[in-house]
Amino acid sequence: MGNYIMAVDQGTTSSRTIIFNHAGEIVSSSQQEFEQIYPRPGWVEHDPELIWASQLKTIREALDRANLQAGEISAIGITNQRETTVLWDRRTGKPIYNAIVWQCRRTADFCKELQEEGFDAKLREKTGLVTDAYFSGTKLKWILDHVPGARREAEQGHLAFGTIDSWLVNRLSGGKVHVTDYSNASRTLLYNIHELRWDDEILERFDIPSALLPEVVPSSHPVACTDLEILGISVPIAGIAGDQQAALFGQCCFDPGTVKTTYGTGCFMLMNTGREAKPSACGLLTTIAWGLGGEITYALEGSTFIAGAVIQWLRDELKLIRSAEESEYWASMVEDSNGVYLVPAFVGLGAPHWDPHARGAIFGLTRGVNRSHLVRAALESIAFQSKEIVDCMARDSGLGLTELRVDGGAAANSLLCQFQADLLDIPVRRPKVLETTALGAAYLAGLAVGYWRDKEEISANWSVDREFHPRMSQNRRRNLVTGWERAVARSKNWVSPEEEG
Ligand code: ADP
Repeated sequence: MGNYIMAVDQGTTSSRTIIFNHAGEIVSSSQQEFEQIYPRPGWVEHDPELIWASQLKTIREALDRANLQAGEISAIGITNQRETTVLWDRRTGKPIYNAIVWQCRRTADFCKELQEEGFDAKLREKTGLVTDAYFSGTKLKWILDHVPGARREAEQGHLAFGTIDSWLVNRLSGGKVHVTDYSNASRTLLYNIHELRWDDEILERFDIPSALLPEVVPSSHPVACTDLEILGISVPIAGIAGDQQAALFGQCCFDPGTVKTTYGTGCFMLMNTGREAKPSACGLLTTIAWGLGGEITYALEGSTFIAGAVIQWLRDELKLIRSAEESEYWASMVEDSNGVYLVPAFVGLGAPHWDPHARGAIFGLTRGVNRSHLVRAALESIAFQSKEIVDCMARDSGLGLTELRVDGGAAANSLLCQFQADLLDIPVRRPKVLETTALGAAYLAGLAVGYWRDKEEISANWSVDREFHPRMSQNRRRNLVTGWERAVARSKNWVSPEEEG
């Protein structure tokens, strides 16, 4: 058995590889950006060959940088940008079209059609997802509808569909293996998360032949070995999970009711709900967190579109700060936001409001409001939005929260973390290793090959960088939340559908 685990982290803008040791510490890493393709407004594609080439380069570079031989790697775990859709020819291993990226809106009209005929209720019930162009199923259908001869080839069993995890496993295994894990399958809009199978009724409505679907495997399980061509020896691929689910695992949120939030450009929050798939009353997604040890763990997921992006806006558009880090300095110059609320509804509002016609707004301006108050209000808006989602999760799941584990770029901001703890009235904990996505993939792979014994051993690796305890009075919290709710209410329904174009 080797001394290390390799995590292959294929993201939307870059491919990365990180090598971890037994303590869950980073030993080496490598990252490579690749091209984003925008064929038309609202369309986003990636070249699957470029994804593969950039990923392979980082795999080799991460080994080189730490002077490691492939034989020292016990197993490889894969984590990936979710929902992005690839179709390739099984005979040649070549993609038949570019990968359609999760952000791509080209199938919005088909989603509308499904909603109008009421099929969305069925999709929600079976897949836990909302009917949106975001998920893989409608993208897959689009390729079959638009690439000449594709559906016929698919029916004859010549084509393979996969999310990016499937694509990478296929390439890593020298074209031998065609699988995806439960967490990625649950993002396709084609997978019945209760019965744990591809859903015939959905496949029929989408006109998708089942012959092109991957086998669904546990997230922690030896599924393939790398082809000798890749690293000179054969290394087991033993972990797969979509990026947000991997981060939940990397944060060691193993018990029902545990929650992680990633403060990146947007904010992604997942709550472990244990063996139960909990439906949401406020528009959160019900999804599979992972399949491990013969059991399925479910999660509730909510996201806000704008989180760290509001800080970028202060920096790039308003030029109130020179760097994202500087936001903490300015915000900490003042005790509070001086009654100012900034609602960053730049692209409308997601859960629990779901108002595409809302727009950003700043309320409560008075003569004494200065730069610090505005910066503080922007940071606070990230925490207010997260609180709304946490409240939904608590309601939907019926599970009490005891802490929030944070990661992502803006988690470095201690003022934000403190304000979040104050608003939620629970401790916020920030781990030492913030690369939780890659770490989660490494843990899933390491568990499958016995590199780590069990989840308890992994949990012992989770060590806190800093812990933020709530210290706000009940009264003040209530007043702040009331103020936020009034601000959100006034930012809603701002543009009319015509104005929006
Ligand atoms: P992504 O993975 O979405 O690209 P990251 O996790 O790298 O995002 O985080 C980057 C985001 O975090 C940016 O939007 C940036 O404005 C924000 N950010 C980074 N550092 C800080 C900080 N110290 N305070 C507030 N926001 C920050």
